[in-house]
Amino acid sequence: MSEQLKPCPFCGMNRVTLFNEQVAEDCMMSWVECGGCGARSMEYESPMGDETPVMLWNRRKPDAALVAALKEAAWLYDQLALSPLEAAVKYGDTYEPPSDEDCLRIRGQIHEALLAAGEPL
Ligand SMILES: [Zn+2]
Repeated sequence: MSEQLKPCPFCGMNRVTLFNEQVAEDCMMSWVECGGCGARSMEYESPMGDETPVMLWNRRKPDAALVAALKEAAWLYDQLALSPLEAAVKYGDTYEPPSDEDCLRIRGQIHEALLAAGEPL
């Protein structure tokens, strides 16, 4: 197996197992189960050696608040990385650099998103 199972998305336990039950000569029923909380993936019928159940278990939808905070942080970084001349060329004469309020707002978004994800700064 080339792709390793990620820890359980519900309890964080590393003791997750891929189960394979042969149902035909060249076909098996596969699922992933957490040894901690018992979370279990859907059963997946696949040819022998198929790694789709592992890929499905490992696929995580990113947290929407974290994605939004990261986009804001990237925007802030881009703004702060511009020299005044580059900013004038890119955005015209009406360009306003990010304010202290922008920085604090984005810092707060990152803090809240990480807190919600259980990973406070
Ligand atoms: Zn679990």
